[in-house]
This record gives sequence, C-alpha cells and structure tokens, in this order.
Amino acid sequence: MDTPGLYSFIDTLTKQHDQLSMVRCFLDFLTKEFSAQDAFYYEIHSHDLKNNEKNNNEKQEFPKLFNPLTNINIVQEFDSQLLDVYKSREMFMGDTSETGHRRCIYPVVVGLQVFGLIDFKIPVHENKVMEQLGFLTRLFGNLFILIYKKERDGLTGLLHRLDFENRIHRIINHNFGKERRAGTPDDLCIAIADIDYFKKVNDEFGHLFGDEVLVHLSQLMNRSFRDQDLICRYGGEEFAIAINGVGIKPAVQILERFVKAVQAYRVPQVGSVTMSIGVVQVTKKELLTNIIDKADKALYFAKENGRNQVQAYETLLAENKLPDVSARSGDIELF
Ligand code: GH3
Ligand code: MG
Ligand code: MG
Repeated sequence: MDTPGLYSFIDTLTKQHDQLSMVRCFLDFLTKEFSAQDAFYYEIHSHDLKNNEKNNNEKQEFPKLFNPLTNINIVQEFDSQLLDVYKSREMFMGDTSETGHRRCIYPVVVGLQVFGLIDFKIPVHENKVMEQLGFLTRLFGNLFILIYKKERDGLTGLLHRLDFENRIHRIINHNFGKERRAGTPDDLCIAIADIDYFKKVNDEFGHLFGDEVLVHLSQLMNRSFRDQDLICRYGGEEFAIAINGVGIKPAVQILERFVKAVQAYRVPQVGSVTMSIGVVQVTKKELLTNIIDKADKALYFAKENGRNQVQAYETLLAENKLPDVSARSGDIELF
C-alpha cells in the first residue's frame, strides 16, 4: 500500500465515531486494499468479560462469537483456529489454499482481554505488505478500544443511551427497511426498567452503596439477557433493554423472570431491591422517542400499581388503561 493510501485510510478510520462504523470501515479497507475475502469481525461475548464479575458463584460460560454487523441475531461457533487465537492472543496465518489465499486471524486485545477477532482470507503478499497489515490491525484495535470505552458507562459497563439509540435505529432499519430480506420482520421489544425506591437506598446506606447496587444489578442484567439483546444505562437508575428476536409475550416472560431474579438477589450490605419494567414491541418503523414513550407509560403504570412487576404497553392499551400515544405522532418517519 502506498503512502497516500495509508494516510487516506488512517484519516477515514479516525473519522469513525462508533464501533460498528469503525468495523465496517476496516473490513471494507481490507477487502479493497488487500483484496481480502470473507472478512469478518467477531465480538467476544461472555458474561465475565462484559464486566468485572464479583459474583463467582455463577458458572463461567465459555465465550461466544458475535458478528455485530451482519448477523444481528446469530451467534457464531468458534472453530479451532479462532479458539487458538482467542486463547493465545497471538495472530494466526494459515497455509496457502489452492485459490492462493490464506486465512489470517488477528485478535483485538486490551491488556489480557481479547475483545474481538478479525478473520479474513487474503492472497499471498510480500512480507512488507504483511507487516503493514499487522500495524494497521493494531492501529484499528487501539482505536477500537477507545471507542468501545466511550460507548459504555464507567460505573456499570453498560451502553450509554446515545449509543444504544444508534444501535436500535440500525436494528429497526434492518428489520423494517428495504435491506430486509423477504419474510416476516424480526421481532424486537424495548423495555425501560427502573429501580424501585432507589432514593431510599441512597438515603439509608449512602451514595456509594447506591452505586454498588447499580453495579450488581447491571451484572445481573448481563447474565439474565442474551448476547443479541442490548442493555443500556438509560439514565441514573433507569435501564433500557432491547430484546431482539422475540415478540411481546415471550419478552414479558423473560422480563418477569428477570424481575424475580432481582427480587431474589441479595446485594451485599444493602439486601434486596426490586425493579419495575415497562415494555413494548416495535411493530413498524417509528420514532424511537415514541417507542420509549410507550415503554415509559407502561413503566409508570407498573410503578403506580405496586412496583416489582412488568407491564406491557399493548396489554394496557387493549384494556383501556392507557391513552394511545401513537395517535399523537401518527406515522411520521424521521430516520
Ligand atoms: P421509584 O420507585 O418511584 O422509582 O422511586 P425512586 O426513589 O427510585 O425514584 P426517584 O426518581 O425519586 O429517585 C431516584 C434516585 O436515584 C435519586 C438519585 O439520587 C438516585 N440516583 C440516580 N443516579 C444515581 C447514581 O449514579 N448513583 C446513585 N447512588 N444514585 C443515583
Ligand atoms: Mg426508581
Ligand atoms: Mg427513575
């Protein structure tokens, strides 16, 4: 790769402000500049890597591979080469196949932790080119970690609201947009969860213990929801959860199980806390603020009717317990 090409790539890569655009930019670059084929980026999803686990009673699950770009709902299996790179944290280069390509796998590492794996096949290049590729992959990894941290809340390790919303827009566009393949749309439910009487915890035990509760509940969320679901710290003691691939009925069941798990959980020193949740299914391409508004209405109902429970917007609406907020914004589509 010549110097102007290199400058141009670094310029483009450093202009990307979120994880998914960075990955897309890097994979495009590998394909165009290095004639790479089958270029993938896999996130490593595991409950112990998502956050600093303090509760070791839970069985540590083996990590899974998740393709954040193309397979929103699909978790890939490790093959032996991916597993070797994950374990050794060393890059892998395979033998040249009949097509003249060889497989390369680079780990994205921070400290001792592998965050992701870049997997692609390239034609045989001279050593100098391979050195360049190694350097650019490390550059990508270093920037990627910065972006990864920027997108997550320092206390809980969960996605920030803005990054959550960006990802939800992508999922909605994918599920309801033109790029979607024929067939029924993938289901998606959005929930807003709020800790009950959290002010009391702060008042009784102090703000530091309040923070500790937030950390414990975030870890419980990481363990309770699946890899393809998104969990976000929406604001102070409020969380947003996107349950991907299921309709409202199973979503309510999943959330009710979670509410029970919260109730049963004992936060050290503080004891038991409870959460209330409002949830709604996304059934068309509509404004996220409108969707959140519906989940919020259901949450408010849960708070007013005893807390420690899940309420679905659709059910409340059918039972005439809520005003229809979709009537206000109609079908406008702004994204
Ligand atoms: P409700 O059941 O109606 O939700 O009652 P609540 O007390 O949880 O709700 P309220 O909105 O009255 O209080 C929320 C509290 O959450 C007040 C605020 O100090 C606390 N809080 C918000 N963010 C943080 C945080 O980052 N750390 C701690 N320790 N407390 C926080
Ligand atoms: Mg609260
Ligand atoms: Mg609140």
